[in-house]
Amino acid sequence: MDPEVAESLRQDTDAVIDIGVSFDGTWQKRGFTSHYGVGVCIDILTGLVIDYEILSSYCHACACKNSVLKAGEISEEEFDSWKEGHKADCAKNFAGSSKAMEQEAAKRMWGPVTPIRGTPCVARGAPSPGAGRVDGLEVSTGKVSLLQATNGSTVLLPCTYSSCIGIHKLYFNWHYNDNGTMLKLCEAVIPKENVEPVVGVYHERVEFVGSSRRNNISILLWNITFEDRGDYVCFARNPKEKNRNHSAVYTLIVVDQLTEVDTTLTTVMVAVVGTLLGSLLLFMVAKALVVNFMPKKEDKNKDCLVSSTVVDHTEDARSGAKGSKGKA
Ligand SMILES: [Zn+2]
Repeated sequence: MDPEVAESLRQDTDAVIDIGVSFDGTWQKRGFTSHYGVGVCIDILTGLVIDYEILSSYCHACACKNSVLKAGEISEEEFDSWKEGHKADCAKNFAGSSKAMEQEAAKRMWGPVTPIRGTPCVARGAPSPGAGRVDGLEVSTGKVSLLQATNGSTVLLPCTYSSCIGIHKLYFNWHYNDNGTMLKLCEAVIPKENVEPVVGVYHERVEFVGSSRRNNISILLWNITFEDRGDYVCFARNPKEKNRNHSAVYTLIVVDQLTEVDTTLTTVMVAVVGTLLGSLLLFMVAKALVVNFMPKKEDKNKDCLVSSTVVDHTEDARSGAKGSKGKA
């Protein structure tokens, strides 16, 4: 683009709007030996290619003329004269390695004679090849999006927002999913970065505790009851990013303060299981003893009637074992 046109566009804030872009480079062939490389800058919202830069470290005309010179078919003077006239048409516009092409393409795009205005976020991705991704508006409720709180307590429902290209009149709200019906808890517009919003709160136990200085739009929910359990949605929309919006869900679980009930149940279960295990052990010990002393018993009272069921089973088992041994 013509530098003057680019400059006039840059100064006219209505003509050039801020957008989030993604930059990446590619080559004609793999292995960093390619003569041709391309850098592309794409609008992350629409996928439109905003700008591109083609780099070539090879010119076929130059290569041909060089070989003719080396063969001695033309003189140095003739070559220099040809080179001077060829300058405007030369296909070679880059002298570095193919590895350096991606970086160079980004530098030229964000350079002084292009209409693209680099923001810190965009510039971060550009210098290192393959690291040119830029994300749009996002809201987050943090690493843990589930909270268990006791009935009657006050909980913090956290939410933060982030945008690479910054915010302008960022709209946000919190709503509660009441069995499919969305109940708005609060809403506000943050005029711009570091300017605190005037928050409209529509719930008597909700308090806004966020701050634009920390990109924070968290709320407090006072004195929670069992009816408060469920999903809380933090939503934000950024007009600066063509109204891109994003939301995050925070789930609140309200539990009874009397957690002793659970403990009692656990104790009972442990006791029952313990008793069962104990009985089983006793049974096994008894069985082992009986088995050990059985031969004597058998020898002494072969015709005796056995009253104990335990001994009964043991005898059956033993005779069965004997039987199978005999068969084998
Ligand atoms: Zn050339």
